[in-house]
Amino acid sequence: MYRWTLLLFLPLFVWGEAHIFVYHRFGDEKHASTNTSIEVLRSEFEYLKQNGYEVISLHTLNDAIKNDKPVKENWVVLTIDDSYKSFYQNGLPLFKEYGYPFTLFVYVEATERRYGDFMSWAQLLEAQRHGEIGLHSYGHHHMVSLSKKEILQDTKKAYDAFEKHLGAAPRYFAYPYGEYDPKVRDAVETFDFDLILNQNSGAVDGDSDPYDLDRTALTGEDLIRQKLRIKTLTTTWLSPKAWPKSGKIKKIHATIPTDITDLEYYLSGYGWQPIKAMNGVVDESVDLPIKLKRSRLFLRQKERQSSIILVKE
Ligand SMILES: [Zn+2]
Repeated sequence: MYRWTLLLFLPLFVWGEAHIFVYHRFGDEKHASTNTSIEVLRSEFEYLKQNGYEVISLHTLNDAIKNDKPVKENWVVLTIDDSYKSFYQNGLPLFKEYGYPFTLFVYVEATERRYGDFMSWAQLLEAQRHGEIGLHSYGHHHMVSLSKKEILQDTKKAYDAFEKHLGAAPRYFAYPYGEYDPKVRDAVETFDFDLILNQNSGAVDGDSDPYDLDRTALTGEDLIRQKLRIKTLTTTWLSPKAWPKSGKIKKIHATIPTDITDLEYYLSGYGWQPIKAMNGVVDESVDLPIKLKRSRLFLRQKERQSSIILVKE
Protein backbone atom coordinates (compact mmCIF):
# COMPACT_ATOMS: atom_id res chain seq x y z
CA MET A 1 0.00 0.00 0.00
CA TYR A 2 2.74 2.43 1.05
CA ARG A 3 4.59 1.76 -2.18
CA TRP A 4 1.67 2.81 -4.36
CA THR A 5 1.09 5.96 -2.33
CA LEU A 6 4.71 6.82 -2.98
CA LEU A 7 4.20 6.26 -6.70
CA LEU A 8 1.27 8.65 -6.80
CA PHE A 9 3.07 11.49 -5.07
CA LEU A 10 6.49 11.27 -6.66
CA PRO A 11 6.23 12.72 -10.16
CA LEU A 12 9.87 11.81 -10.74
CA PHE A 13 8.84 8.22 -10.51
CA VAL A 14 6.81 8.63 -13.67
CA TRP A 15 9.08 10.69 -15.92
CA GLY A 16 12.56 9.52 -15.54
CA GLU A 17 15.30 7.18 -16.42
CA ALA A 18 15.11 3.48 -17.09
CA HIS A 19 17.93 1.07 -16.39
CA ILE A 20 19.08 -1.66 -18.75
CA PHE A 21 21.13 -4.44 -17.19
CA VAL A 22 23.18 -7.18 -18.77
CA TYR A 23 23.82 -10.66 -17.40
CA HIS A 24 25.94 -13.43 -18.88
CA ARG A 25 25.97 -16.80 -17.05
CA PHE A 26 23.73 -18.11 -14.29
CA GLY A 27 24.56 -20.57 -11.54
CA ASP A 28 27.82 -21.45 -13.27
CA GLU A 29 30.59 -21.16 -10.65
CA LYS A 30 33.29 -22.29 -13.10
CA HIS A 31 33.21 -18.85 -14.73
CA ALA A 32 33.10 -16.52 -11.75
CA SER A 33 33.77 -13.23 -13.58
CA THR A 34 30.69 -13.55 -15.80
CA ASN A 35 28.47 -15.53 -13.44
CA THR A 36 25.40 -14.58 -11.41
CA SER A 37 24.43 -17.17 -8.83
CA ILE A 38 20.78 -18.14 -8.60
CA GLU A 39 20.70 -16.84 -4.99
CA VAL A 40 21.88 -13.42 -6.16
CA LEU A 41 19.47 -13.43 -9.12
CA ARG A 42 16.57 -14.22 -6.80
CA SER A 43 17.62 -11.50 -4.39
CA GLU A 44 17.76 -8.96 -7.25
CA PHE A 45 14.40 -10.06 -8.63
CA GLU A 46 12.86 -9.82 -5.14
CA TYR A 47 14.33 -6.33 -4.72
CA LEU A 48 12.76 -5.20 -7.99
CA LYS A 49 9.43 -6.77 -7.06
CA GLN A 50 9.33 -5.37 -3.51
CA ASN A 51 10.33 -1.83 -4.53
CA GLY A 52 7.85 -1.04 -7.28
CA TYR A 53 10.12 -1.60 -10.27
CA GLU A 54 8.50 -2.69 -13.49
CA VAL A 55 10.54 -5.08 -15.61
CA ILE A 56 9.68 -4.21 -19.20
CA SER A 57 10.74 -5.52 -22.61
CA LEU A 58 13.08 -3.69 -24.98
CA HIS A 59 10.04 -3.48 -27.26
CA THR A 60 8.26 -1.28 -24.69
CA LEU A 61 11.34 0.88 -24.17
CA ASN A 62 11.80 1.28 -27.92
CA ASP A 63 8.17 2.31 -28.30
CA ALA A 64 8.58 5.00 -25.62
CA ILE A 65 11.83 6.42 -27.04
CA LYS A 66 10.66 6.42 -30.65
CA ASN A 67 7.17 7.77 -29.99
CA ASP A 68 8.00 10.38 -27.33
CA LYS A 69 6.12 8.54 -24.62
CA PRO A 70 7.40 8.90 -21.05
CA VAL A 71 10.32 6.69 -20.04
CA LYS A 72 9.50 5.75 -16.48
CA GLU A 73 11.82 5.94 -13.52
CA ASN A 74 10.78 2.50 -12.30
CA TRP A 75 11.45 0.75 -15.60
CA VAL A 76 14.07 -1.96 -15.73
CA VAL A 77 15.11 -3.92 -18.82
CA LEU A 78 16.94 -7.22 -18.32
CA THR A 79 19.22 -8.49 -21.05
CA ILE A 80 21.49 -11.52 -21.29
CA ASP A 81 24.49 -11.78 -23.62
CA ASP A 82 25.97 -14.83 -25.35
CA SER A 83 23.05 -17.29 -25.00
CA TYR A 84 24.92 -19.68 -22.71
CA LYS A 85 23.26 -22.96 -21.77
CA SER A 86 23.36 -21.84 -18.15
CA PHE A 87 20.69 -19.25 -18.98
CA TYR A 88 18.43 -21.94 -20.40
CA GLN A 89 19.09 -24.34 -17.53
CA ASN A 90 19.36 -22.05 -14.51
CA GLY A 91 18.30 -18.51 -15.39
CA LEU A 92 15.20 -18.98 -17.54
CA PRO A 93 13.21 -20.85 -14.85
CA LEU A 94 13.54 -17.84 -12.53
CA PHE A 95 12.57 -15.35 -15.24
CA LYS A 96 9.48 -17.51 -15.86
CA GLU A 97 8.69 -17.73 -12.14
CA TYR A 98 8.72 -13.93 -11.80
CA GLY A 99 7.13 -13.34 -15.21
CA TYR A 100 9.98 -10.99 -16.13
CA PRO A 101 10.55 -10.36 -19.84
CA PHE A 102 14.11 -10.40 -21.15
CA THR A 103 16.16 -9.96 -24.29
CA LEU A 104 18.71 -12.66 -24.96
CA PHE A 105 21.51 -11.68 -27.35
CA VAL A 106 22.60 -14.69 -29.37
CA TYR A 107 26.17 -15.43 -30.41
CA VAL A 108 25.17 -17.05 -33.67
CA GLU A 109 28.32 -18.98 -34.60
CA ALA A 110 28.32 -20.76 -31.23
CA THR A 111 24.78 -21.97 -31.88
CA GLU A 112 25.39 -22.82 -35.56
CA ARG A 113 28.47 -24.88 -34.71
CA ARG A 114 26.87 -26.37 -31.58
CA TYR A 115 29.57 -25.27 -29.17
CA GLY A 116 28.88 -27.21 -25.98
CA ASP A 117 28.32 -24.28 -23.64
CA PHE A 118 25.71 -22.53 -25.79
CA MET A 119 21.99 -22.86 -26.48
CA SER A 120 20.69 -24.65 -29.58
CA TRP A 121 18.25 -23.08 -32.05
CA ALA A 122 15.49 -25.24 -30.52
CA GLN A 123 16.28 -23.87 -27.05
CA LEU A 124 16.36 -20.32 -28.42
CA LEU A 125 12.95 -20.86 -30.01
CA GLU A 126 11.63 -22.05 -26.67
CA ALA A 127 13.16 -19.07 -24.84
CA GLN A 128 11.57 -16.77 -27.43
CA ARG A 129 8.16 -17.76 -26.07
CA HIS A 130 9.01 -15.95 -22.82
CA GLY A 131 11.18 -13.07 -24.05
CA GLU A 132 12.85 -11.51 -27.04
CA ILE A 133 15.99 -12.58 -28.88
CA GLY A 134 18.49 -10.07 -30.22
CA LEU A 135 21.69 -10.35 -32.23
CA HIS A 136 25.17 -10.45 -30.69
CA SER A 137 27.11 -10.85 -33.96
CA TYR A 138 28.14 -14.03 -35.78
CA GLY A 139 31.74 -14.60 -34.73
CA HIS A 140 31.84 -12.59 -31.46
CA HIS A 141 34.96 -10.75 -32.67
CA HIS A 142 36.56 -7.65 -31.25
CA MET A 143 34.78 -5.61 -33.92
CA VAL A 144 37.00 -2.55 -33.61
CA SER A 145 39.79 -4.68 -35.12
CA LEU A 146 37.72 -5.67 -38.18
CA SER A 147 37.41 -3.68 -41.39
CA LYS A 148 34.04 -2.16 -42.19
CA LYS A 149 33.59 -4.82 -44.88
CA GLU A 150 34.29 -7.61 -42.38
CA ILE A 151 31.83 -6.13 -39.88
CA LEU A 152 29.14 -5.99 -42.58
CA GLN A 153 29.84 -9.60 -43.60
CA ASP A 154 29.80 -10.87 -40.02
CA THR A 155 26.56 -9.07 -39.20
CA LYS A 156 24.86 -10.16 -42.45
CA LYS A 157 25.77 -13.79 -41.78
CA ALA A 158 24.36 -13.53 -38.25
CA TYR A 159 21.25 -11.68 -39.43
CA ASP A 160 20.40 -14.26 -42.10
CA ALA A 161 20.91 -17.28 -39.81
CA PHE A 162 18.81 -15.59 -37.10
CA GLU A 163 15.95 -14.92 -39.51
CA LYS A 164 16.07 -18.44 -40.92
CA HIS A 165 15.99 -20.21 -37.56
CA LEU A 166 13.92 -17.87 -35.40
CA GLY A 167 11.35 -16.83 -37.99
CA ALA A 168 11.79 -13.05 -37.98
CA ALA A 169 14.53 -10.49 -38.51
CA PRO A 170 16.42 -9.38 -35.38
CA ARG A 171 15.38 -5.97 -34.02
CA TYR A 172 18.15 -5.41 -31.47
CA PHE A 173 21.93 -5.65 -31.57
CA ALA A 174 24.47 -5.75 -28.72
CA TYR A 175 28.19 -5.31 -29.48
CA PRO A 176 30.44 -8.25 -28.52
CA TYR A 177 32.48 -7.28 -25.41
CA GLY A 178 30.60 -3.95 -25.53
CA GLU A 179 33.38 -2.72 -27.84
CA TYR A 180 32.68 -0.25 -30.64
CA ASP A 181 33.84 2.94 -32.27
CA PRO A 182 32.33 5.17 -34.99
CA LYS A 183 33.38 2.69 -37.74
CA VAL A 184 31.70 -0.27 -36.00
CA ARG A 185 28.61 1.75 -35.26
CA ASP A 186 28.29 2.98 -38.88
CA ALA A 187 28.51 -0.58 -40.18
CA VAL A 188 26.02 -2.06 -37.70
CA GLU A 189 23.59 0.83 -38.19
CA THR A 190 23.09 -0.07 -41.85
CA PHE A 191 21.05 -3.10 -40.75
CA ASP A 192 18.24 -0.90 -39.54
CA PHE A 193 17.93 -2.39 -36.06
CA ASP A 194 15.45 -0.71 -33.71
CA LEU A 195 18.01 -0.45 -30.90
CA ILE A 196 21.76 -0.93 -30.51
CA LEU A 197 23.12 -1.55 -27.02
CA ASN A 198 26.57 -0.95 -25.60
CA GLN A 199 27.97 -1.97 -22.23
CA ASN A 200 28.69 1.42 -20.69
CA SER A 201 27.18 1.77 -17.20
CA GLY A 202 24.42 4.33 -17.33
CA ALA A 203 20.71 4.96 -17.55
CA VAL A 204 18.32 5.72 -20.39
CA ASP A 205 15.87 8.59 -20.76
CA GLY A 206 13.61 9.83 -23.54
CA ASP A 207 16.53 11.67 -25.17
CA SER A 208 18.85 8.68 -25.25
CA ASP A 209 20.28 7.70 -28.63
CA PRO A 210 18.46 4.49 -29.66
CA TYR A 211 21.65 3.39 -31.44
CA ASP A 212 23.83 3.84 -28.37
CA LEU A 213 21.92 2.70 -25.30
CA ASP A 214 23.86 2.27 -22.07
CA ARG A 215 23.69 -1.07 -20.28
CA THR A 216 25.09 -1.80 -16.86
CA ALA A 217 26.65 -5.20 -16.14
CA LEU A 218 25.26 -7.29 -13.29
CA THR A 219 27.57 -10.12 -12.32
CA GLY A 220 28.99 -11.36 -9.04
CA GLU A 221 27.42 -10.02 -5.86
CA ASP A 222 24.04 -8.33 -5.64
CA LEU A 223 24.74 -4.71 -6.53
CA ILE A 224 21.40 -3.83 -8.07
CA ARG A 225 20.50 -1.22 -5.43
CA GLN A 226 23.58 0.85 -6.12
CA LYS A 227 23.41 0.35 -9.89
CA LEU A 228 19.82 1.58 -9.94
CA ARG A 229 21.07 4.87 -8.51
CA ILE A 230 23.12 5.63 -11.65
CA LYS A 231 21.68 8.50 -13.68
CA THR A 232 22.43 9.50 -17.21
CA LEU A 233 24.51 12.53 -18.09
CA THR A 234 23.29 13.41 -21.56
CA THR A 235 26.57 13.83 -23.42
CA THR A 236 27.74 14.28 -26.98
CA TRP A 237 31.37 13.24 -27.11
CA LEU A 238 33.32 15.37 -29.58
CA SER A 239 36.87 14.39 -28.66
CA PRO A 240 38.01 11.72 -28.31
CA LYS A 241 35.42 9.69 -30.21
CA ALA A 242 37.60 6.61 -30.60
CA TRP A 243 41.09 5.38 -29.75
CA PRO A 244 43.42 8.19 -30.87
CA LYS A 245 46.15 7.11 -33.32
CA SER A 246 48.75 8.83 -31.13
CA GLY A 247 47.71 6.68 -28.16
CA LYS A 248 47.27 9.90 -26.19
CA ILE A 249 44.23 11.88 -25.17
CA LYS A 250 45.02 15.52 -25.82
CA LYS A 251 41.61 17.05 -25.40
CA ILE A 252 38.37 16.27 -23.62
CA HIS A 253 35.60 17.94 -25.56
CA ALA A 254 31.90 17.19 -25.09
CA THR A 255 28.55 18.86 -24.80
CA ILE A 256 26.54 18.25 -21.63
CA PRO A 257 23.43 19.80 -20.00
CA THR A 258 23.88 23.56 -19.52
CA ASP A 259 23.08 23.48 -15.78
CA ILE A 260 26.37 21.73 -14.98
CA THR A 261 29.58 23.66 -14.41
CA ASP A 262 31.64 21.38 -12.18
CA LEU A 263 32.15 17.74 -12.91
CA GLU A 264 34.82 15.04 -12.91
CA TYR A 265 36.44 12.88 -15.54
CA TYR A 266 38.10 9.50 -15.28
CA LEU A 267 40.33 7.59 -17.67
CA SER A 268 41.17 3.93 -16.96
CA GLY A 269 44.42 3.75 -15.02
CA TYR A 270 44.09 7.30 -13.72
CA GLY A 271 41.93 8.57 -10.85
CA TRP A 272 38.98 10.95 -10.94
CA GLN A 273 39.96 14.53 -11.76
CA PRO A 274 37.91 17.73 -11.62
CA ILE A 275 36.95 19.40 -14.89
CA LYS A 276 34.90 22.51 -15.68
CA ALA A 277 32.10 23.15 -18.13
CA MET A 278 30.78 26.43 -19.46
CA ASN A 279 27.46 26.92 -21.25
CA GLY A 280 27.06 23.18 -21.62
CA VAL A 281 30.51 22.57 -23.07
CA VAL A 282 33.50 20.75 -21.64
CA ASP A 283 36.61 21.69 -23.58
CA GLU A 284 39.90 21.05 -21.86
CA SER A 285 43.40 20.28 -23.12
CA VAL A 286 45.01 17.31 -21.37
CA ASP A 287 47.99 15.08 -21.98
CA LEU A 288 47.04 11.53 -21.07
CA PRO A 289 48.85 8.55 -22.61
CA ILE A 290 46.27 5.75 -22.64
CA LYS A 291 47.43 2.97 -20.32
CA LEU A 292 45.13 0.09 -21.26
CA LYS A 293 44.27 -1.28 -24.73
CA ARG A 294 40.68 -1.25 -23.63
CA SER A 295 40.01 1.93 -21.66
CA ARG A 296 37.03 3.94 -20.58
CA LEU A 297 36.65 7.68 -20.35
CA PHE A 298 33.94 8.93 -18.01
CA LEU A 299 32.36 12.25 -17.24
CA ARG A 300 30.25 12.44 -14.09
CA GLN A 301 28.44 14.85 -11.86
CA LYS A 302 27.26 13.11 -8.69
CA GLU A 303 25.17 10.12 -9.86
CA ARG A 304 24.92 11.40 -13.43
CA GLN A 305 27.45 9.76 -15.69
CA SER A 306 28.38 9.10 -19.27
CA SER A 307 31.28 7.16 -20.71
CA ILE A 308 32.86 5.98 -23.93
CA ILE A 309 34.96 2.92 -24.52
CA LEU A 310 38.32 3.35 -26.26
CA VAL A 311 39.67 0.18 -27.83
CA LYS A 312 42.96 -0.15 -29.67
CA GLU A 313 42.55 -1.68 -33.14
ZN1 LIG B 1 29.30 -11.48 -25.59
